[in-house]
Amino acid sequence: MLYRIMMMQYITLLILGVLVLKYGTCLEIRVPRIAIIGGGIGGASTSHFLTELFNGSLEIDLYEAKTIGGRLATVKIDNNEVEAGGSIIHPKNMYMQKFVKLLGLEHNFPSEQKYGIWNGDEFVYKENSWYIVSMAKLFYRYGFQLYRLKRHVDDILEDFGKIYNLQDDGKSFVNVTALLSAMNKDFPKSLQLSIKDYLSHMGFTERLINEVVQATIVTNYGQDVNIQSFVGLISIAGAGFDLWSVKGGNKGVPEHLIYRNKYVNIIPSRVTKIRNIPDSDSSQYEVTYMNKDSIDSITCTYDIVIIAAPLTHDQEFPIEFVDFPNNLVFPGEYQTTYATFINGDLNPKYFGLQEALDVILSCNPKKTKISSIGEVNHVDGANEISSQIWKIFSKESVETNLINNIFSHVTEKKEIAWKAYPHYSNTTNIHFDKFKLHDALYHVNAIEWAGSAMEMSAIAGRNVAILAHDDFVQKYNFMSNKEVYKDSTKKRSIEL
Ligand SMILES: Cc1cc2nc3c(=O)[nH]c(=O)nc-3n(C[C@H](O)[C@H](O)[C@H](O)COP(=O)(O)OP(=O)(O)OC[C@H]3O[C@@H](n4cnc5c(N)ncnc54)[C@H](O)[C@@H]3O)c2cc1C
Repeated sequence: MLYRIMMMQYITLLILGVLVLKYGTCLEIRVPRIAIIGGGIGGASTSHFLTELFNGSLEIDLYEAKTIGGRLATVKIDNNEVEAGGSIIHPKNMYMQKFVKLLGLEHNFPSEQKYGIWNGDEFVYKENSWYIVSMAKLFYRYGFQLYRLKRHVDDILEDFGKIYNLQDDGKSFVNVTALLSAMNKDFPKSLQLSIKDYLSHMGFTERLINEVVQATIVTNYGQDVNIQSFVGLISIAGAGFDLWSVKGGNKGVPEHLIYRNKYVNIIPSRVTKIRNIPDSDSSQYEVTYMNKDSIDSITCTYDIVIIAAPLTHDQEFPIEFVDFPNNLVFPGEYQTTYATFINGDLNPKYFGLQEALDVILSCNPKKTKISSIGEVNHVDGANEISSQIWKIFSKESVETNLINNIFSHVTEKKEIAWKAYPHYSNTTNIHFDKFKLHDALYHVNAIEWAGSAMEMSAIAGRNVAILAHDDFVQKYNFMSNKEVYKDSTKKRSIEL
């Protein structure tokens, strides 16, 4: 009898031992170690929503090779601080609105500006100081087409806005096509069609497409009406009313989201390599990085890696992927846009004008070296500017001769060359639309192939945060873990 009892105890201990060995690491609540690569608005949004979803039970290392804010940056010219990268925000960009409110920041509205559309030879449209005269001129040239276009873009925005409820309900998407389909099942088709064809099929005239629509695309994306229609529609929406920016600079949003989050540890370094370390239960990743001033490499291991930066071959800080079962390739290129800032007076005669306009938009990128010229506001408000500062967008660096022809009394000039947004023109297929690249490896900037804008990166950041959270919970759904994490999805606010 004693022998049987001892045997039973021995067998029970043996079974427990095997269980502990197999699941031992999962029985405690596991706090994910997460790497986010990139401190722009995409990385900032990801870190914010991850912290909400995990209710603070997480560790984030955020790698930034250059400056927090990324393509949201300011430049100082004659002591005036102005937006240098992403500058305008649509009133229906709900995450930018939400972040501004959450962080206690303020809106900045641009001053009224008179604009003209220039085809390289003449102005096809010039705004008048009298609103009624401008409306009459627009009606004379484009009839009801502009009104129809506005209504169509409003309808698109209505469907686009469905993403906010979907994400509030915890829905996530493994690729861009699925995300767009959830807004409207026809949206993915718009990625396959140029904006020119899309609008002509709807009965819009060549004149409207080649002048008004093209001018917005040349200015906003440095490309032409051959770009796919989804980003084309984003570009048209970006020429609407009530546009705004963040007082103090749009970069304030990613800066505050990142610096005020106590769960985020910033590593000012560039990531050079991500290695997949497969083990029996789950993947982990080894991230190799180099400090700004060092040539030595350091490695760290993570449960989740999120890349919040473009991955095309032409980027400044390329990342090597090692030991992944499938080759990770990211075709395509980014468009280089030069932003040149001039302190000087615009010379209206260069454009054949009697009096200067505030904004000149090119609708003929084949003929004009310059995509747009516009007078800019101070990031603290239109009244704060102490001199006339102009911003030129162009595909190539603007020669000094040309600057001296367009401007007089130039006292300062600064130029920034941006890898600004994907090169969309003639892109007939979207090959690179995966948010989920591997087991627990995600890519925020896949969204840019549908459209590049601050709000798009913010939406993609939240999508990737939900994906990463749900995958992690599913992987480690033993004992009480699942409930802890499930409850955390209901909590929508975090301490900043
Ligand atoms: C000139 C210009 C005008 C624009 N105008 C507008 C506009 O008016 N409205 C609008 O909504 N959008 C506009 N955009 C687009 C908008 O700025 C971008 O879509 C958005 O800022 C992208 O944010 P992101 O976080 O996804 O990428 P990024 O801002 O590019 O952030 C990525 C970050 O990752 C870092 N990084 C990259 N590789 C590594 C690495 N290997 N290791 C560590 N760090 C790395 C980079 O340094 C960068 O800081 C404009 C962009 C430009 C350039």
